[in-house]
Parts: sequence; structure tokens; C-alpha cells
Amino acid sequence: MTDVTVVGGGVIGLTAARRLHEAGARVTVIAADPPEDTVSAVAAAVWYPAHQEADPRVLRWSAAAYQEFTRQAHDGVPGVLLRRTRMLLSTVPWWAAAAGDVTLLDDELRFTAPLVEMPVYLAWLARGLTIERRRISALDELPGLVVNATGLAARELAGDDAVEPARGQIVLVENPGLDVSIRDESRSLYIHPRSRDVVLGGTFEQGRGDLTADPAGAEAIRARCVEVEPRLAGARVLGSLIGLRPTRRGGPRLERQGNIIHCYGHGGAGMTMSWGCADDVMELALRVS
Ligand SMILES: Cc1cc2nc3c(=O)[nH]c(=O)nc-3n(C[C@H](O)[C@H](O)[C@H](O)COP(=O)(O)OP(=O)(O)OC[C@H]3O[C@@H](n4cnc5c(N)ncnc54)[C@H](O)[C@@H]3O)c2cc1C
Repeated sequence: MTDVTVVGGGVIGLTAARRLHEAGARVTVIAADPPEDTVSAVAAAVWYPAHQEADPRVLRWSAAAYQEFTRQAHDGVPGVLLRRTRMLLSTVPWWAAAAGDVTLLDDELRFTAPLVEMPVYLAWLARGLTIERRRISALDELPGLVVNATGLAARELAGDDAVEPARGQIVLVENPGLDVSIRDESRSLYIHPRSRDVVLGGTFEQGRGDLTADPAGAEAIRARCVEVEPRLAGARVLGSLIGLRPTRRGGPRLERQGNIIHCYGHGGAGMTMSWGCADDVMELALRVS
């Protein structure tokens, strides 16, 4: 196979790089920021096609990722867990076919959601890959086949004004012994127990692109979650994180244009679609090169 440069070291770029590397490509990842400074590191990183249209591509990508994460959890990949989930919902949603064991009972959807602890998982994805820490100013300055996985920066790099930020905030608290996820989209609320802490969420502010700290917003998130799960009341707050989701009008862009494969605009569901998108990137790379 060929040489490929993947621009972007978030979950989208590293997952694509991993697939290409496994297929025998010589892969170089170029990433401007260290992993901890990407939006991928902020993500609650629970499988759920949040804020996505009922698009057959999203369904296919999400289903592929669901299966891959489930396999990884059983294989003990670092940071990958499966969580029983209670979602407050009275109808079966369009994405249910991608999510395995979905049942609807008394206005509650129950399913098992893969959850990824991003810092450790991103390091696992990156193992053995060649990574250059630098910022490029144009995609066409790079030789050969290039994967554009630059998330929000694709607005400038690919001249795509359909890309815009959606600011999100989460709160991390100590885990008082929870092991079931709760999600209520009508209140933009989620509670995701991880191995050492619980992620409480969250906000979704379409079009807002600043990272200004918001302690009052963090307390409001915590208070809403305590109403739903009173055992969180005394849980020590460990911190709060803010990130900018790379949303795109019309959904993610995944297509080849000459020697550039664009793969960006995953909004609030980059982890959720990561492996499905990586499969398509690999197919596009193999088909024409
Ligand atoms: C609060 C919050 C909660 C979330 N929860 C979930 C969830 O539960 N489930 C889920 O699936 N998703 C969730 N998301 C969304 C998820 O974080 C994103 O969809 C995903 O991280 C996007 O990944 P990415 O690789 O495209 O972008 P990024 O992580 O932003 O990575 C972009 C990469 O491109 C690099 N780059 C940019 N410009 C250049 C340049 N000029 N030169 C070189 N490199 C460049 C950057 O350095 C970086 O490495 C959440 C997001 C937030 C903010």
C-alpha cells in the first residue's frame, strides 16, 4: 500500500491512521496540538449519535463503531467500557438498529453503550504511529495522499463554511458507586459513570466558539444531574471541561477530492462514528491509489 499523511491527531485522525497502518500503509500523523488539547480529549465519549440527522451514513458508521467498541471492551482495550444505559424516551429512535440490545419499557429506552476514557484510549490508538507535532497552513503543501481530519480547523483548511463550533461543558465528580448511564436529551442531561469518576453533562451551544470558564454553568449541570440521581449529591467535584464540537451543516464530510480524503465535521458524535468513518477512509485510500 501507499504512504499516507493524516492531518489531525484527535479521535477521527488517529482512528483512520490506525486502520491505514493495520492495512500496511506507511502513515505519518501531523497534529498541531498535543492530544490533551484536542476536543477529543474533552469528550464524554459515550456511543450515541448526538445531534445527528437520521442519515443512513451516520447509521452505518455508528453501527460499525458500536461493534468495534464492543469487541474492544471484551478484548480489554485500555479505556473502553460498556455501560448499561437508561434513556428517558418514549419512542424507539432512528439509530436503534445500530445499538444492539435496545428495549423500550415504561418511557425508558434501555441499551448498552460503549464508553471510552479518552486520554488513555487516544494513547492506545497512537501507539506505533509516527506523529509530527506541527501546524500546517494548507493541505496542498503536503505530498501524496492526505487525510484531512482537522475537525473545526477544516473550516479554514478546506474552505468549508458549513463547519462551526458547538460549545459543550461537562463536570467530573467522584463516583459514589454508580454503574448505569442515564441520558435525557430533552434536558440536555447525561450521567456517565467511568472507572474512577462520573461525567455529568452537558451543554450544546451551537455557534459559540469561546472557551471562557463558566463555574455557574458547571454548578447548574451538577444540580440538574443530582435531581435525577440523588446519590450524586455529596460527590466531590473534580473539575469541569469545555470543548468546541466540530459541527457541520449537512453532517460529516467524508469524500475524496483528488489526493485529499476529507473526514471532518463529526459534531457531538466523533467517537460514536469513528471506526465506521475510518473504514470508509481506508476504502477510499485503497480504491484510487
Ligand atoms: C463536552 C463534549 C462532550 C462530547 N461527548 C461526546 C460523546 O459522548 N460521544 C461522542 O461520540 N462525541 C462526543 N463529543 C464530540 C467529540 O469530542 C468530537 O466529535 C470529536 O472529538 C471530533 O474529533 P476530531 O478528531 O474530528 O477533532 P479534534 O479532536 O478537534 O482533532 C483535530 C485535530 O486536528 C489537528 N489540527 C487542526 N488544525 C491543524 C493544522 N492546521 N495542522 C495540523 N493539525 C491540525 C488538531 O491539533 C487535532 O489534533 C463531545 C464533545 C464535547 C465538547
